Amino acid sequence: MLATKDLRAYYFTRRGIVRAVDGVDIEVGVNRVLGVVGESGSGKSTLGMALTALVRPPLRVQGSVLYKGKDIYSMPPEELRVIRGVGLSIIPQFAMDALNPTVRVRDLIRDLIDSHRDSVKYHPEDLFRKAQERALQIGLPKWVLDRYPVELSGGMRQRVTILLSTLLDPEVLVADEPTSALDVVIQRLVIQYLQDLFKEGAIKSMVFITHDIATAYQLATDMAVMYAGQIVESGPAEKVVREPSHPYTKGLMSALVEPGMNIRKVKLEGLAGEPPDLVNPPKGCRFYPRCRYRMDICKEEDPPEVDIGGVRVKCWLYAGKKEAGVRP
Ligand code: SF4
Ligand code: MG
Repeated sequence: MLATKDLRAYYFTRRGIVRAVDGVDIEVGVNRVLGVVGESGSGKSTLGMALTALVRPPLRVQGSVLYKGKDIYSMPPEELRVIRGVGLSIIPQFAMDALNPTVRVRDLIRDLIDSHRDSVKYHPEDLFRKAQERALQIGLPKWVLDRYPVELSGGMRQRVTILLSTLLDPEVLVADEPTSALDVVIQRLVIQYLQDLFKEGAIKSMVFITHDIATAYQLATDMAVMYAGQIVESGPAEKVVREPSHPYTKGLMSALVEPGMNIRKVKLEGLAGEPPDLVNPPKGCRFYPRCRYRMDICKEEDPPEVDIGGVRVKCWLYAGKKEAGVRP
């Protein structure tokens, strides 16, 4: 459904080129949810924007994003516009600030329905009713429809955006920290809502971006761990979380997975040290300065991606070239 090939997304700033996404290959099939996890500043949100062609200067994208085999960056604008609603939709990070504050929620919904009138199979009135039902499902009371976004709390605005991004049942949904402004009870409602849409087949594939591994793990069938603009480990969620291979993933998961194998509700921050500056990333492995297992070669050469039992790991420890005796 969605795949990238050597995707790069760079910000051209006065300080230099920030390599926020630097050579990412992902694949999300039908009935799959890819959880993308990483610390803040690892490039997750930029990846989300690049995946949905939400790209404005100073951000520029190279490589390709294939939606059902077609590169969204070579599509005519009209084709992309249609796909945005019904094919490939995003719940952006800070979604609550993305709404037009001068239009009532009811009219935001109507505008969305109108703008995709030709590509949606439902009658507009049925769709509007569906919007009302779904609003209740995520805890938005009826009166919200008659308010302007500025009259709503951040959490309510976030849910209005979630409602809009999912109303036309996009085949692929990219959700970037969709529950960040919500309290725990509402968070659960929203996760349940997304899970239901997925189970009903309303959404066929999802990319769920978050720094909260526990939440990602609830939804994800597959997991990709991002570090300094690159994916360092990816594969079936169960394996990546329970039997991590990359030293970075090991560090993250040891803070997260309790001896009883329960996933603790902790946010991702615990590792010592800082991620590198993405204007001048280290030339070898980007995790080198923080890695307990580092070897000389790691400092000099970019680690290759190695497939170990269905999990892809970007680390010299798993390459043929590894030095004697060191293994995590
Ligand atoms: Fe550590 Fe080397 Fe693997 Fe990088 S390549 S994670 S420095 S062992
Ligand atoms: Mg982010």
